[in-house]
This record gives sequence, structure tokens and C-alpha cells, in this order.
Amino acid sequence: MYKTRTTNVNAAQWSPNGGALGTLDLTEPANQVFGANVFGPAAQRERLPKTVYKALQDTLEGGYALEPTLADAIATAMKDWALEKGATHFTHWFQPLTGSTAEKHDSFYGPAGDGRALAEFSGKELIQGEPDASSFPTGGIRATFEARGYTAWDPTSPAFILENPNGAVLCIPTAFASWTGEALDTKIPLLRSMDALSKAAIAALRLFGDHTSRRVFTTVGPEQEYFLIDEQYYFERPDLVHTGRTLFGAKPPKGHELDDHYFGSIPERVLACMLEVERELAKLGVPIKTRHNEVAPAQYEVAPVFENSNVGSDHQQLTMQVMQKVARRYGLVCLLHEKPFAGVNGSGKHNNWSMGTDTGANLLEPGDTPHDNLQFLFFCGAVIQAVNRHQGLLRASVASIGQDHRLGANEAPPAIISIFLGAELLKVFEAIERGEAGETTEGSFLGLGTPVLPRLPMHGGDRNRTSPFAFTGNKFEFRALGSSQSLSLPNTVLNTITAQAIDELSAALEARLAAGAELEEAVREVLQASYANNKRIVFEGDNYADEWHAEAAERGLLNDRTTPDALPHMISEDTVEAFDTYEVLSDRELHSRYEVMVEQYVIRANIEAETAAVIARTMILPAAVRHLETLRTAGVDSLSTELSDLVDSLVEAIGKLEAANARHEGEEGSLDHAIYMRDTVVPAMAGVREVADRLEGIVADDLWPLPKYAEILFIK
Ligand code: ADP
Ligand code: MG
Repeated sequence: MYKTRTTNVNAAQWSPNGGALGTLDLTEPANQVFGANVFGPAAQRERLPKTVYKALQDTLEGGYALEPTLADAIATAMKDWALEKGATHFTHWFQPLTGSTAEKHDSFYGPAGDGRALAEFSGKELIQGEPDASSFPTGGIRATFEARGYTAWDPTSPAFILENPNGAVLCIPTAFASWTGEALDTKIPLLRSMDALSKAAIAALRLFGDHTSRRVFTTVGPEQEYFLIDEQYYFERPDLVHTGRTLFGAKPPKGHELDDHYFGSIPERVLACMLEVERELAKLGVPIKTRHNEVAPAQYEVAPVFENSNVGSDHQQLTMQVMQKVARRYGLVCLLHEKPFAGVNGSGKHNNWSMGTDTGANLLEPGDTPHDNLQFLFFCGAVIQAVNRHQGLLRASVASIGQDHRLGANEAPPAIISIFLGAELLKVFEAIERGEAGETTEGSFLGLGTPVLPRLPMHGGDRNRTSPFAFTGNKFEFRALGSSQSLSLPNTVLNTITAQAIDELSAALEARLAAGAELEEAVREVLQASYANNKRIVFEGDNYADEWHAEAAERGLLNDRTTPDALPHMISEDTVEAFDTYEVLSDRELHSRYEVMVEQYVIRANIEAETAAVIARTMILPAAVRHLETLRTAGVDSLSTELSDLVDSLVEAIGKLEAANARHEGEEGSLDHAIYMRDTVVPAMAGVREVADRLEGIVADDLWPLPKYAEILFIK
């Protein structure tokens, strides 16, 4: 575009049908592909002895622990299935505290003693593994000298096969714990929180006369935003390679002002890539449902059908992995950073969340009968109470250095957590608060006293795109997640705090029922008190508006703008108490997560700062100096004076950044260190960028060493 940079765009390197890069086999009918690489219920039914299959299903549906005696039979069936699919190795697939996934591959084959190899896989190998875990972050739970960590099979998330052109691996979703039994991963607390919520919700359902549901599952449906850019540009930018975002780059002349990209038609190469991603995910049983262009140029979104939180979280990790892998086959790179381009919309992840019974009822779905609605309002009330009480923790659960560019930047919800209920539901809660809910008011069709209640419109006109936590018809949508983030922690938090609120409301309800109140009256009273105490968290207006920040402060809502501000909520007294009571994370486990999150912030800030200093000194400064020489040689004095001043400013700014990088405050990796990074290093980086971005508009294009936003974002 600007200069003769090569890109892959017209290189005809990709071809979805048999080319070197595109590998999609279009002869396979789509409906036969779904779940083909998953050892799920269908494959299990086909291959397991009837009794074993039934025992396994019962175990899964009831949420019980698996009989160890079943493991050998399952392992054998799983191995035979995997070998038929071309797998040579298996791995316990787990999710350490880094937020990504980890695998250590073991071969199925061992020497048979007669010079041949025999495929073996025992129940023991299925159930437990022992990866060398010494270099995963543990936040001090386990010193490296006691490096032992165990992985334990999670039968509730089906095993799957990851294909590679040169082989395949059986991946067994596992939990990862220390030898003392402490959780070293993100799956264990999520599973524990699902148990906690189930217990609380089932107890509440009993008060409403439901004696058939045995278990309540939380559900998650994530909407994932991401960028796809040409890989040529990616590799020409050390900042993208090392930090996932551009540390330099002036605003392009054309942004998304024209809104010509949003929901526009998808460029051919991008669509080809998406189709292959979806095909691979379908094989893995990930039910991708929608895809479209997002607001920013080169930005897209993908969303699956919702699943239970555990499987949904595993599938989300797979989705991110597969998107990044497949993109490369098309000469593209998939960026999952929260803010890859300054001044351009960043990427988030909307976490649609609900609770459903094993009998198929969605507890956040307004019902057809007054009784159902009563129950719906009870669970909604619990969510409102939970979110208000633990707003700081929710904010902390989505905190990361990438998020600091996004939350509150008028493209994403603010750092202030609030709930949007929508006009209809708000009316109902306000009527309850005033003690008027017994009457049917015109326009309020959820009034508790009415005999037949129409449903809340699922897709009501009053959507609020700016709210961080919105009721959207039959679920809540937590919109503040970062695009690169694992779903585990935010959902663990949601489940735990909601379990607590449900228990509190149940206790109040039980007391009233014991005192002889009717169910309807009792629920109304309980919700009246709860809503009055928690309604400050409800906000229906524009979350981007400055007035909201002032009003939120008046309401006493938290506004933790940066990660170092937010993270201490992870270990506040209130958090420790809730997580301890519900046995989701012990004090020590909670602290370990806090420490890892603080440390990750410091490490990533440091990588960014050092990368920025190197790029500025070794790429940008030389380009500016060369251009200055040209101007001087040509004798264009007016221009060379201007540039010479800028070069001086750049040298000064680089010096400041390098000095900031050379020292630190507080113990390494501590909160004080993080605060130093935020208050000293990050501003020093911004100082260098400010000058560099001005230089980008002045230095001759053929001398400029980095691909520009206008190229990266618009050449597809
Ligand atoms: P919307 O138009 O509100 O975004 P969609 O039906 O398109 O609604 O859903 C968006 C996301 O919400 C999808 O990923 C979907 O799977 C998820 N979702 C829908 N229902 C639920 C539920 N009960 N629990 C969790 N996620 C859900
Ligand atoms: Mg949505």
C-alpha cells in the first residue's frame, strides 16, 4: 500500500480446496463431521459395555465421582477409538494458572518384548498423570523443589482428538492439583463452584416445591471477538510478535467511522479461514453458531451455542487455540489481545451465563405461570444481590494488563460494575420494592398477582450495549471479559457469589415460610428487602457517559480503573469468606491466584516496556535520523529543524523509558512492583509512543520500519 511491502494477500498461497495451506475436505458432509473427534456419549454408547456406559452416564448426570473400577474398561474403549482415528499419543490436557492450556504427550506404544510395539493404555493412565509441573506458576503454593503436580481425569468434559498433518493426539481434559490436593489450575475451582451453586439452587428449588430436579448446571455461551491480520505484517512487527499488540502506530486516516465493516460481507480469505475453523471445531464437538464482522476493521466475532460451564470453558480454550492455528494456514494471524491497536476498538468476550436444571428448565427464564415467575424473580434477585456485594471481585476476575486499555475506554463497559435489567424487569423489581407487586399494573405484565403472565420479550427493543452485566431475556451477559481470557475465573466467581446469595435469600424465605407466610407473600417480602439493599447496582443508562461515573461514585460503587487497583479484591475478607464457605478456593489457593495475577501483570508490562525501548532505539530512531540526514542534505531547513526537535524528544523519551526499565520498586512481582509498572513504566512507554507516532507522519514512508495501521487493518 504505502511502499512495496510484500503481503500474502494476492500470493494465491491459500486455497481452501487441496492447496498447500487450505486443507478443508469439502467432501465430508457437515452433519457427519460434528463430534467426529470427540469421545462423547455417542462414541461411548457404541463402544462401552452397556453397564459401564450406563454407570458413566449416571455419574455424569448426577455429578458424582466415578467408580475407579470403570476406568479400565473406559480406557480400553477410548484407546481403541483413538487409534482408529490415527492417534499415536495421548495427553492429559489441563489449564494451569497462566490462563492457557498445557499438554505433555505420551506414546500409546510400548515395546512388546519381541521387537514389536504394543499399544497400551490403562485405567490408571486415564485417571491420573504426573506431568513435570515445576515451571507452571503456582503463586507460592508449591516451591519448585516439590515439583510434583497431578493431573486427574475430568470425565464430565469429553476427551477429543487433536489432528496434525503428521499425526493425532488423544487429549483427555484433566484437573491439575498439587500433591497436597490444592488446585493448581482453573478447572478445579470452576467444578467446585458448579457444585456449590447446584447445592444452593436445588435447596432453593425445594422451597418452591420442586422435588424432581437433582442438579442445577450453570451454562456459558461466550461471544469471542478477535482480529485477523496478514501474517506478513505480523512478523514485521516485533511488538505484535512479543506482546500481542502494537506498541506504536499512528491512527489511520480511515478508522471505523464509516461503519462499513460492522456486519458487512466477510472478505473471501477471511471467510475461508472461518469455515475451516468451524469445521475443525465441529469435529471437536464445539457447536459454533454465529460469525460476523465486528466494529473495527479486520475484527470479527464468533459464538457457540451455550453449554455447561465446564465443557463450555474447555471448548472456549479450544476455540481460541484452533482459531490461531488455522489462521496460519491462510497466511493470517489471529490476534486475541484486548487492544491490539490503539485508537481502534479492542476485543472482548461476552460471557452469557445462566442456570439450568437437569430436567431442562432455565432458572433465568421468565415463566408462563405466576409460580414460575416467582421462582424466576427469586433467582434474578439473588444475582442482583451477588453482583452488588461482590462487584469488586467480579471486576478483579477480568483484570489483566490488556484489559487496562479497554475497560472504560468507550468501547467496552466501564470499570464500574453495574447491572442492566431492561425496562420490563426493572418495573417489576421497582413494584416489588414499593410493595405493589401484588397488583397488576398496566404495562407491567410480570406482576406477581396476575393469573396468566406473558413472557418477557426475549429480544426486547431496549438492549443496552454499554452495560457490563445485562439481563438479556433468559440469561445474564457479563460483558467485561477480555478476548484472550479463560472463562474459568469469571464463571467460578459468578457461580460462587450467586450460590451464596441464593443461600441467603433461601434462609430468609425459609424463616418466613416457617412463620406461616404464603410462598408468594414470603418471596415478595424477601425480594423487597434484598432489592432495596442492592438496587444501587442497577443502572439502565449509558455506561459510557461521564455523568455515570459521578453518579456511580455517589452510589458508592467501585471504580477500579487498573489491574493493580482491582486485584486486591481477589483476597478481600469478603472474597475469602465466600470462597472458603463454599469450598471453592481456600485462603491459600485464593492468594496463589492473586499472586499469579499480579506477577503476570508485572511480567507482561516489563516485556512490553523492553520491547518498546528496543523498537524505538533500534528501528524508529535510526529511521528518523536517516530522514533528517536526507532533509539536511537537500537543504530543507524548515523541515529539518522540526524533525531535529522531534528526534531530540525521542532520544529523551527513550532515555526515560530505559531508566524506568532498569529499576523497580517493591519486591519483585509484588503489588508494589505492579504499581510501579503502572505509574512509572507504562507512562514512560506512552511518552516514547507519543513522539514516535508523530514521527510516523513525518518520516519518509520507505524509511519507516514498521507496517502502519492503514496497511495492517485494511489489506485483507
Ligand atoms: P443475543 O442476541 O442475546 O446475543 P443469542 O441467542 O444470539 O442472543 O445468544 C448469544 C450467546 O448467548 C450465544 O453464545 C448463546 O449460546 C448464549 N446463550 C443463550 N442462552 C444461554 C443460556 N441459557 N446460558 C448461557 N448462554 C446462553
Ligand atoms: Mg450478545
